[in-house]
Amino acid sequence: KSFKDFAVSDEIVEALTDLRYFHPTTVQEEVIPVALKNEDIIVEAQTGSGKTVSYGVPLVEKVEWAENKPQALVLTPTRELAMQVKEDLTNIGRFKRVKAAAIFGKASFKKQQLELKQKNHIVVGTPGRLLDHLQKGTINVDKVRYLVLDEADEMLNMGFIEQVEAIIEYIPKDRQTLLFSATMPKEVARLAAFYMKEETTSIK
Ligand code: AMP
Repeated sequence: KSFKDFAVSDEIVEALTDLRYFHPTTVQEEVIPVALKNEDIIVEAQTGSGKTVSYGVPLVEKVEWAENKPQALVLTPTRELAMQVKEDLTNIGRFKRVKAAAIFGKASFKKQQLELKQKNHIVVGTPGRLLDHLQKGTINVDKVRYLVLDEADEMLNMGFIEQVEAIIEYIPKDRQTLLFSATMPKEVARLAAFYMKEETTSIK
């Protein structure tokens, strides 16, 4: 199996090759084809499985370069993961010149406000600070069509679930939602049942 087997552009396959990703992991093999269609997906995947690339490739493939407002939002439990995901997406989208921003707490709100005024295809962030930007009107999510909840169980453990729900309420309903979680506690399943499409693919 190679990344060429998926319906993704050459510029993405080339970027993956530069990153020395030659063969998709099991999670990537299962998630990428489904995520490329506009289906909602719940994925039970651990860190280390290659989950970031499994949603990163479809997101980078699908965002339209000419659109200036963010088209995808990725929620992560920690600032470290937010920064890592931003870097991964930027690397995968290098030849497509995909722009990603990372937004997290304990960093200058003002600087992030300026960053959010620039062209960004994808915004990655932690729940508290993202909600803050939404409430203050410093992020525009009108064009968001892809929502990723990464490490949903960790966001729950860290007490972010209400903030996550409040964020989802701001996102256009006409969207694709991708939920990743190492475990599937009741509260995560409930969140999925409430905010995701009825016909959702589950991958374990
Ligand atoms: P993740 O599960 O997203 O945290 O990824 C775990 C690690 O696997 C990261 O360090 C990635 O750089 C690496 N990785 C992801 N996909 C591949 C791949 N297809 N081939 C080799 N390494 C990969």
